[in-house]
Amino acid sequence: MPWGLLISGALIALAAVIAYRTITFPIPPEPVPAAELLPVDAEAAAAHLAAIIQCETIAYSPDTPPDAAAFGALHARLRAAYPGVYAALEVETVNTWSLLFTWRGGDPALAPVVFLGHTDVVPVDAGALDTWRYPPFSGAIAEGFVWGRGTLDVKCQVTGPLDAVAALLAAGFRPARTIMLAFGHDEEIEGEHGAQAIVALLRERGIRPAAVLDEGGALMEGVLPGVAGPVALIGTGEKGQVTLELVAEATPGHSSMPPPQTAIGALSRALARVEARPMPARVALLRPVIRHLGTRAPLSHRVALANLWLLGGVVRRTLAASPQTSALIRTTIAPTLISGGIKDNVLPREARASLNCRLLPGDSIAALAEHLRRVIGDARVRVVVPNGVGNEASPLSPADSPWFAALARTTRQVFGDVPAIPYLTLAASDARHYHAICDHVYRFEPVHMTEEDLGRIHGNNERISVAAVGQMVQFYAALMQAWGREETG
Ligand SMILES: [Zn+2]
Repeated sequence: MPWGLLISGALIALAAVIAYRTITFPIPPEPVPAAELLPVDAEAAAAHLAAIIQCETIAYSPDTPPDAAAFGALHARLRAAYPGVYAALEVETVNTWSLLFTWRGGDPALAPVVFLGHTDVVPVDAGALDTWRYPPFSGAIAEGFVWGRGTLDVKCQVTGPLDAVAALLAAGFRPARTIMLAFGHDEEIEGEHGAQAIVALLRERGIRPAAVLDEGGALMEGVLPGVAGPVALIGTGEKGQVTLELVAEATPGHSSMPPPQTAIGALSRALARVEARPMPARVALLRPVIRHLGTRAPLSHRVALANLWLLGGVVRRTLAASPQTSALIRTTIAPTLISGGIKDNVLPREARASLNCRLLPGDSIAALAEHLRRVIGDARVRVVVPNGVGNEASPLSPADSPWFAALARTTRQVFGDVPAIPYLTLAASDARHYHAICDHVYRFEPVHMTEEDLGRIHGNNERISVAAVGQMVQFYAALMQAWGREETG
């Protein structure tokens, strides 16, 4: 056979493989059964939210005790707003200010599902108070919005599930599977006394939840290049974070007779090496994202991610070129602080640099430190791992579970034809503590958020529309029915 024919035959076969893999790559969305969404009084739900926005439950730091008056008022207002829920469910407090509600299902053999939220909020920038359209703890309902600190992050995720339970109780619904609501009071300062204590309590009771839903993702637009319209970003895991230190030591002395390299020189060399040799990229992590986007993802993305065996190198280089996409595929290392030396004519005894690192699931803090030691390869420079500070990355919960599918289905029932995409959350949340007792931990706040809304979170003029509050309640009610059914999982 002539060489030309052989080569063109091989090319045709290659093209066929690429085409086949691309066509079979997307996960087709499940058909959404027409569902009767529970009628919800959005105004009443907004009033419930506004009432707890007025409680200044600010988390300042792990060393500052919670404000008993503010958290006490919040508890009293919840009790007043949801008498039916408090009567029908078991209500416990954990470390005084965290709340755990248990709605017993009909079948005690089924593992429960847990809806998370937190009642604490971050402080308000006192210098920016006059930029708030309505005071941050007014809970003003105006212009179609509830205004105030915590409306988006995340008191709506406290009243939302409670309103959903109230509506389901009123409709006579009883779950087969036990439904729990767990609201920590210190999420913004690591969750030690809230979420961690609740997880310890559940573990002590031998409870392994079947699925957990927390904040983390949202309905967003314009976050995925080339994808038009909103997508539901459902966090299946979160990056870890830690700040490591590099310490270079040398003999001090007069700067008139320096060695070839001072402590500062050794540290600089180490930093240059660290930046030149990043942690390995793992582009396969993006495969589920593109698979769930299906035909909404640009064809080029589908071809590339379906054929990493061939195009992996190109994909890696393309994603690594932008800091945003690079952060999605690798553990990042950012030198953020540097110090060394005491006087201009004295050789420094020591030079130090801080590396702020964000860990990808699968990379541990120990492995990261080992990578740095290997890359630096210099006995004069120590890599110091802080004791007990920093979070390991969470594991990744599967996107092909019935729990994820129910989330995706519910999203489309409430918000219309939007795809649900598994993705990695870059911020830390209470959810990370639940991976220890649950294999299906998802992060999704059922709210349509714009880029501008994201800026309001931990910023100024935080608000949520009254209509969105109503939709959240419908979402939770629908998901409680789906997750609370016997056959899920
Ligand atoms: Zn939050």
